[in-house]
Amino acid sequence: MFTLCTRSERETVQNLGVITPLNETNAGSQDLHRLASGGPMESGGVWTGLLTLGREGEMKWRVMVELGAADGTVHLHEVSIGECTVAACSAETLGLSIADGKTTLAGLQRQLVQAQTEEHCWSRRRCLHCGAQRPLKDFRRRRLTSLFGDVEVRAPRFGPCRCGVASRRTITPVAEIMPDRCTPEYERTVAKMGASLPYRRARSLLGDFFPLGDAPEVETVRQRTLHVGARLERQAVAPRVSAPPPEETDTITLAIDGGHVNAVRSYQVRSFEVFVAQVSNDAGKQVVFSSMPAEADRQVEQLRNVLHDLGATKTTPVTILSDGAGGPRNLGEAASIGPTEHVLDWFHLAMRIQHVAQAAKSWPANTPAKRREGARLSDTIEHIHWRLWHGQVQRALDLIGETLVILEATATTTSPEATAAGKAAVVLAGLETYVAGQSDLIIDYATARGSEEPISTATTESTVQWLLHRRMGANQQMRWSPRGAHLMLKVRTSVVNGNFDKECRIAERWARRPFQNAA
Ligand SMILES: [Zn+2]
Repeated sequence: MFTLCTRSERETVQNLGVITPLNETNAGSQDLHRLASGGPMESGGVWTGLLTLGREGEMKWRVMVELGAADGTVHLHEVSIGECTVAACSAETLGLSIADGKTTLAGLQRQLVQAQTEEHCWSRRRCLHCGAQRPLKDFRRRRLTSLFGDVEVRAPRFGPCRCGVASRRTITPVAEIMPDRCTPEYERTVAKMGASLPYRRARSLLGDFFPLGDAPEVETVRQRTLHVGARLERQAVAPRVSAPPPEETDTITLAIDGGHVNAVRSYQVRSFEVFVAQVSNDAGKQVVFSSMPAEADRQVEQLRNVLHDLGATKTTPVTILSDGAGGPRNLGEAASIGPTEHVLDWFHLAMRIQHVAQAAKSWPANTPAKRREGARLSDTIEHIHWRLWHGQVQRALDLIGETLVILEATATTTSPEATAAGKAAVVLAGLETYVAGQSDLIIDYATARGSEEPISTATTESTVQWLLHRRMGANQQMRWSPRGAHLMLKVRTSVVNGNFDKECRIAERWARRPFQNAA
């Protein structure tokens, strides 16, 4: 169909007769029969051939695409055909199957891409200075991978115009509009899927619904995903264009936590830490941020940008919720421009109290006396829980200390409850160390909750779960290099924030496509 030099000879609707214009063809069955038995359609051969093949009780269909070119000519191309026996019609055969849909999409895409590249080549062939046509050097072939199939196009190369005034270089117009082997949308979709699912699964799922042609190799999916991540990172640290300042917020809550990812065997340690933060403002708007401390390019600045976008100013108080670990806390502190208050996340504290309560449940209960002892221990732990919930750190520590003395004494006896006492003592001692170490961060959670102040990172915890553990956690076989994990997190964070497509379009300027735009 590529008829660069004999454009006027291309088949057009004009020489197809009756069928013009397609969308106004209101042919009843009589007209169709008339067309089938000859007449002006015969030479055009659009409908007649198909219909004469049709037997009694069979329905046939054909999907055509009508392309209007820039010069006003209209071209018709067959996209796909199908047939069914009327008697055998059932729910199973009604309408398009996935395979039919794929064939139709792929056919439409092929016609569109070929026509568009042809138009582009035509317009680029004309010399901008004298209007003459540049000489054709040769044709090459180029493949474009898209969500709607692999399309091969002919890519002509044009030499410099004979007038010698405009560009003196040979140009390949197809390379200008097809700088990469795939469309950016294809790459984005592959990256989004590759970030949500194991690569192999992502690849086969994409192939189930899209006419991908040869489904991308697992390695290709991986590389495309990480390339997209690298671009998002580049954009995140790029100097920001001055935009209207976001609406100011009264408070900011920054919940920050760490998680571990399995390292590749060549890395010096078995696993490494990543930070995940969830930042929210008064209006309830939430943004997730993630970073690999060693790999993050200016992570403090990136997190600060997140705060700024949520309306934080130099005077906005920031509440930083954490489990007390130094790394995440320091990142939160460094990124905040306003006054900060650090709060020990109630979620983590409550988990530790829960562990002690669990240990107390294994107290022997074979006699009434032992059942009473067990119940007393559970009661005491309830009291510790209550005191911590109300921010009474010293009173909680006093009660923990008294209880530990009793438990440790019991553990050294030969009584049947010695083992249970020993176990409970170990976890309770752990709680004591934790509370004593983080005492400055423990607040009156009951009052804070009453006035709707933030006390817990439980939602961050579930985000960490989604970001890390579903795809990258210790239970997954996948091992990561710090750089790979960081770039993957970039993609996943963008997906979870719901900004992925938008951010990718903005970050496209950092894409290094294989071909430079020709002059
Ligand atoms: Zn010229």
